[in-house]
Amino acid sequence: MTAPIISGKQVSEEIRGNLRQEVESLVKQGLTPGLAVILVGEDPASQVYVRNKEKACHDLGYYSEVHRLPASTSQEELLALVEKLNQQADIHGILVQLPLPKHIDEKSVINAIAVEKDVDGFHPVNVGNLVIGDDSLLPCTPAGVIELIKRTGIEMSGKHAVVIGRSNIVGKPVSLLLQRENATVTMCHSRTANMKEITKQADILVVAIGRANFVDASYVKPGAVVIDVGMNRLDNGKLAGDVDFESVKEISGPITPVPGGVGPMTITMLMHNTLIAAKRLAGLA
Ligand code: NAP
Repeated sequence: MTAPIISGKQVSEEIRGNLRQEVESLVKQGLTPGLAVILVGEDPASQVYVRNKEKACHDLGYYSEVHRLPASTSQEELLALVEKLNQQADIHGILVQLPLPKHIDEKSVINAIAVEKDVDGFHPVNVGNLVIGDDSLLPCTPAGVIELIKRTGIEMSGKHAVVIGRSNIVGKPVSLLLQRENATVTMCHSRTANMKEITKQADILVVAIGRANFVDASYVKPGAVVIDVGMNRLDNGKLAGDVDFESVKEISGPITPVPGGVGPMTITMLMHNTLIAAKRLAGLA
């Protein structure tokens, strides 16, 4: 029997509906959540992501500023803009679109963002708070994965979750968040031996590798929940996940497609973080 599909698009629309309502009521109280996005250079994928963020702000009633800077922008100029936005009262979230041109040190720029406006959740203080389980702005894609699982009604507590990938932006934070939900978590990476033996024990399998269709049915326990974070552009221009959806959906439990799975959740969680940041900065949360 083919597995149920977890629609990130649908869950995302539900959350956005709630956000729109909350923002409407905050605006009436004089608080409009504001997001500033900085894009340096002309990377085509980044331009699309930034346009989508701008559109989400517009659709949900947020104030938005997009700073499009030339690729020749110096690190000092970028840091000066971040500092200006840190001080700007109508901006509650600051996102610097990555990757940055090679002559700019990403870490220095991320560290310069005010912790309470770090809506990407990449500042070391927010990362540290995530590790020790304190309140923090959570990185958007990992938070989106957890929200998607929760809103689909899937229990995480006591389950064995296996995460393939250990990057700072997906694999590591997703593992920490799954653990926070009381799952027992195993992380796999490129040096993991006998990976299939491990992944076949997973009740929940989260895949964030960056290799199109890598995980086929032979990695999956029948009935397991499969969350595919991968977004890989194929030669034919189509988008593919890290999971071979067609073969895996024949044996798995609920599974996310690509596109339409984790992808839509990322910007939705960015909007959620910006709302949280605005409320905290205004003393409302
Ligand atoms: P990344 O920084 O390149 O990390 C990839 C991870 O996968 C690394 O930990 C690597 O292990 C591991 N890996 C690579 N090949 C492997 C293999 N053969 N077996 C086991 N593990 C392997 O990538 P990322 O930034 O985490 O992104 C992962 C995927 O998610 C990409 O497709 C990306 O486009 C997508 N993504 C999607 C969203 C979204 O909004 N949906 C957001 C972010 C990323 P090592 O550490 O040992 O090298």
